[in-house]
Amino acid sequence: MLQTNATRQETGSFSRLSCWLNCPRKYQFEYIEEAPAECTPSSLLLGSAIHEAVEAFMDSLKAGTPMTSEEVSGVFHRAVTDSAAIAQEQGAPVEFSTGGVAELLAKGDAMLAEFLAKVDRRVQVIGTEVGFEFELEPGRRFRGYIDLILRQGDGRLLVVDLKTSATTYGQDRIEFDQQATLYIAAAEWLFDASGRVDFEFWLLTKTKSPSFKIIPVHRTGRDRVELIDSARNVEAAVTHGIFPRQRGYGCFSCQHRKRCEA
Ligand code: SF4
Repeated sequence: MLQTNATRQETGSFSRLSCWLNCPRKYQFEYIEEAPAECTPSSLLLGSAIHEAVEAFMDSLKAGTPMTSEEVSGVFHRAVTDSAAIAQEQGAPVEFSTGGVAELLAKGDAMLAEFLAKVDRRVQVIGTEVGFEFELEPGRRFRGYIDLILRQGDGRLLVVDLKTSATTYGQDRIEFDQQATLYIAAAEWLFDASGRVDFEFWLLTKTKSPSFKIIPVHRTGRDRVELIDSARNVEAAVTHGIFPRQRGYGCFSCQHRKRCEA
């Protein structure tokens, strides 16, 4: 059998797992063929630049010298400009809406203003972009980066995943999203903190009037068993070359749209 990047026993990531679960054909383009992106959706650019600005702010809280809103906005603007230039250079230009980059910058500034107005500045930041690589089960390694880890009272830790979204999250996402399960397991491993890790999504909506919402998520051992089961099933599917298209909303922002339709 052809040994591809994905059929070898490789360290997994949540991105790979969720990519196959959302659209196996996209997984094939990204991880088997390693095809270059055809374009960069502006939502991707906005999300990563917001992440960079929020992380810079949380790092400044940790250092005890909180950034001003102008400084946070400056990080955001620079991240947008740099990423757009890199995307252009790499032949995957950003697909801006009719308002262009100015509209995207205004939207991001409004989202960050909402975040800075609502976020609790008394939190104890352990770290941002905290890397991990651990065995979810014997022989099955996962790696990734946790957006933010906070220290709580009673020796508990809080893992935060920052999301930017056009809408708020439904109950299905809160109940079943496997990223929360994986990142709780990772933090427990990183800090030797079994049973002492909580998880929250910090959701910034891209709506006309942005909102910042904290969504606590609870996971059990049963969820971890399901995550392992998903990882095993995806690995089996990849080994057998199973990559059906999953047509849906994601197609509109897919970076392999033309290739998929060819
Ligand atoms: S265009 Fe749609 S079906 Fe095709 S790879 Fe992208 S997400 Fe999957």
